[in-house]
Amino acid sequence: MKCEAARPLLESYLDGELERAAVDGIEAHLATCATCRTELAALERLRDVVRAARRHLAELERQLKPQSPHPDLFASPAPAPEPAQSHPALDALAELNPDELSPKDALALVYKLRGLLDQ
Ligand SMILES: [Zn+2]
Repeated sequence: MKCEAARPLLESYLDGELERAAVDGIEAHLATCATCRTELAALERLRDVVRAARRHLAELERQLKPQSPHPDLFASPAPAPEPAQSHPALDALAELNPDELSPKDALALVYKLRGLLDQ
């Protein structure tokens, strides 16, 4: 194999895409040709640089990616908060009219409310 035949195959050789016969031909040529060995080494370095650059790029993209890329405009709205649970004491307070209470009734109501709050 001559340089002109070997050179176009070097990249495929690196990628392991060549038939066994072509691999044998390339390797026989590389054993005798320093120029093509240099060319092959340069291709390997280039491939490593490209791979490293791709890794760096992927890492950068991963770091720059916001946690939630786009707000989901069609998502159903958050469920409305549960209405505040009523408490028996609050219900009792809402019903009373202070103007109609005698001091005795008011005192009884205070005890009743206290009992309700202790529940
Ligand atoms: Zn050569």
